[in-house]
Amino acid sequence: MSETASEHPVLVAGAGPTGLTAALALRARGVPAAILERDPEDRDRDGSRAIYVHGSTLKTLERNYPGLGQDLVDEGLVWPTRHTKWRGKTVFRRTYDNPGGGGEFPHFSSVPQVVTERYMHDALDDLGVDIHWDAGVDTVDSTAEGVHVTTEDGREWETPYVVGADGGGSQVRTEIGVDFDGEQSENSFIIADVATLDGNTIAEEPIPFERLFHYDDPAAGGRNVMLVPFTGGWRLDIQCLGDDDPDEVASETSMREFVTRIMGEAYADNVEWTSTYNFLQVMADRFVDDHRRVLLAGEAAHLLAPFGARGMNSCIADADEAASAIAVARQANDAVARNEIELYAARRERAAEYNLDAAGQALDYLQGDTPVTVLQKEVAASLADHFEPAGEYLDDAPYGPHEAPPIAATGNY
Ligand SMILES: Cc1cc2nc3c(=O)[nH]c(=O)nc-3n(C[C@H](O)[C@H](O)[C@H](O)COP(=O)(O)OP(=O)(O)OC[C@H]3O[C@@H](n4cnc5c(N)ncnc54)[C@H](O)[C@@H]3O)c2cc1C
Repeated sequence: MSETASEHPVLVAGAGPTGLTAALALRARGVPAAILERDPEDRDRDGSRAIYVHGSTLKTLERNYPGLGQDLVDEGLVWPTRHTKWRGKTVFRRTYDNPGGGGEFPHFSSVPQVVTERYMHDALDDLGVDIHWDAGVDTVDSTAEGVHVTTEDGREWETPYVVGADGGGSQVRTEIGVDFDGEQSENSFIIADVATLDGNTIAEEPIPFERLFHYDDPAAGGRNVMLVPFTGGWRLDIQCLGDDDPDEVASETSMREFVTRIMGEAYADNVEWTSTYNFLQVMADRFVDDHRRVLLAGEAAHLLAPFGARGMNSCIADADEAASAIAVARQANDAVARNEIELYAARRERAAEYNLDAAGQALDYLQGDTPVTVLQKEVAASLADHFEPAGEYLDDAPYGPHEAPPIAATGNY
């Protein structure tokens, strides 16, 4: 590697959860790192976005910056009840005495992404990691020796490795000539954050402290509705019908009506954020450049429908593994260094394929209107009163399979 490149910090493009984690994980491995971010420092990060932080993600964050996983547990909440309704009637409801489980970390923490990112920023401040704001990555030229980067503010950078964590529209990905193809969901989804009443904690709210999925909710004109508590509010997801105009459904007047009918009139003025989505199911055709110097991570590498909450959780896993690969590669001979980066790509491409498939199963189920799918749901709903597994099937299916991706290898036996 050239002297210039190897002496410099590893550059991370993007200060979303992937880039922030990558920088923390690099520092945890003794690797100097800096972040290049396109946005200004005082930007707004609207909406709750990823609220479901898996237990394994909490552990990853704790390992990389002791206290961070615990902060997200302290700031978040663990809802104790799974509840599913079918056209106005309960078909499954289960409350757990110890919903977080008995481990060091709970199974999950429900905390808005903006809070997660705030704690990551605090950790990076504490470690003295530089975030260069208003410094969108413009060009990326890699060679066997390192990477030359230019940013939109006119600066030039030398670095041994780049982590491309610059989100779904990744410029880094474009610069290394990687394709990004996939599908878009047929239905649109409306996602809204509704604040708790009068600064209540969730447990003080008049509506039950539970995760609710309601199939064909009469209060929402027969649309599927999901309601999930997080610290300070409720996440309301409404699945548009095929002939809906999503912008109309998401309009202020319409959302006031939906919220009033689904949650109660008291909540009508508490809608804090509304957004309309057609979810993308997309993956980069490779996660590294030809010279094994640029690693794509997070949404720069894959976009998933959020059902099953694999989005941010898999982004953080990418970031952790990218840092591991770079930390070893920096100290290794050229052949081992290449192999480490390839191993990263093999593992995380396999994980992304698995996660896409799992999120796709959830999406297919939710959108499914083939006679077989409709019949399956109808039969399960009709059996649910007498046969709990039928209700549990309806409760489980919108989130797809539960398992984490299998670990992949590059051909070693
Ligand atoms: C409505 C919604 C709900 C969601 N719910 C969940 C959920 O429940 N669970 C879950 O796990 N996930 C969820 N997600 C997904 C989660 O929000 C994303 O997976 C996560 O934000 C991706 O992180 P990232 O860092 O890869 O990308 P981003 O968060 O998009 O961050 C990319 C960063 O790169 C910056 N950038 C862009 N271009 C450049 C450039 N050229 N140079 C430098 N910087 C650049 C951007 O400004 C941004 O700061 C949800 C997402 C949405 C939108």
